[in-house]
Amino acid sequence: MPELPEVETIARGVDDRLRGDRILEVWFGSHTQPFKNPPAEQSAGLESKVILGVHRVGKHIVCELATPGNETPSAQWIVHLGMTGRLLVTTPDGLVAPHTHARLTLASGREMRFVDPRRFGRLEFRALENDQAFTGPGTEPTTIPLDAFARLFRGRKLAIKAALLNQTLLHGVGNIYADESLFRAGIRPRRMAGRIKPAELARLHAALQEVLQHAIALGGSSVSDYVDANGVRGFFQLEHRVYLRTGQPCLVCGTPIRRIVLAGRGTHYCPVCQR
Ligand SMILES: [Zn+2]
Repeated sequence: MPELPEVETIARGVDDRLRGDRILEVWFGSHTQPFKNPPAEQSAGLESKVILGVHRVGKHIVCELATPGNETPSAQWIVHLGMTGRLLVTTPDGLVAPHTHARLTLASGREMRFVDPRRFGRLEFRALENDQAFTGPGTEPTTIPLDAFARLFRGRKLAIKAALLNQTLLHGVGNIYADESLFRAGIRPRRMAGRIKPAELARLHAALQEVLQHAIALGGSSVSDYVDANGVRGFFQLEHRVYLRTGQPCLVCGTPIRRIVLAGRGTHYCPVCQR
């Protein structure tokens, strides 16, 4: 499943390539699952729109669209990659991958394609005269200030790991970055969120932003691998200190990393460094 830094990388890559391009024609496949609103409505809204820019909101990719000649967005096309979705920029002669659900023909001669074998991804069109601009359900974790971050957890009677994964609190923090930031902050994943001390929350806030920004910086160097017709390959992963390192020595103290299941997710931590 693409995590926030990966989605940021894809959004930046698509933005670099398609900012200012215009959508000429839209083809959608026959599977209905990817479409949050009817495909006919989406294609009618997309055709002839200019792509003003593409950016990330949580784990969604948002294309800001305008009628030609306008600088103010009048619509948005929102892509959520789900488990296996890919957003590709290619030439029309590029091989059409199986499970391609959308092909947008662009004035530059390129195509934007959405491919998703498992169909958990979603495509949504919002006309901004009728709908609110998309903001996502929670707060953006890479920019949230410390005081707002601390407020999210106040009085919460659930494990801090579960709170980090709760998308209505922070939008886009996935399993890897929750485990890695809790390790860096020295906090056990099972601790009750509402009982974590201010100094620890400050460490967690710094650690979460650090791991996300670091992964985004690493991902930035592999942008081209993401948006060519070959799809997903070569995303530089953050070097994991605990995630999927069960039984291996902690990089700080040498104690074997433990794995538990918390909020339904595999959770990795060092029993000595994290308290
Ligand atoms: Zn340790």
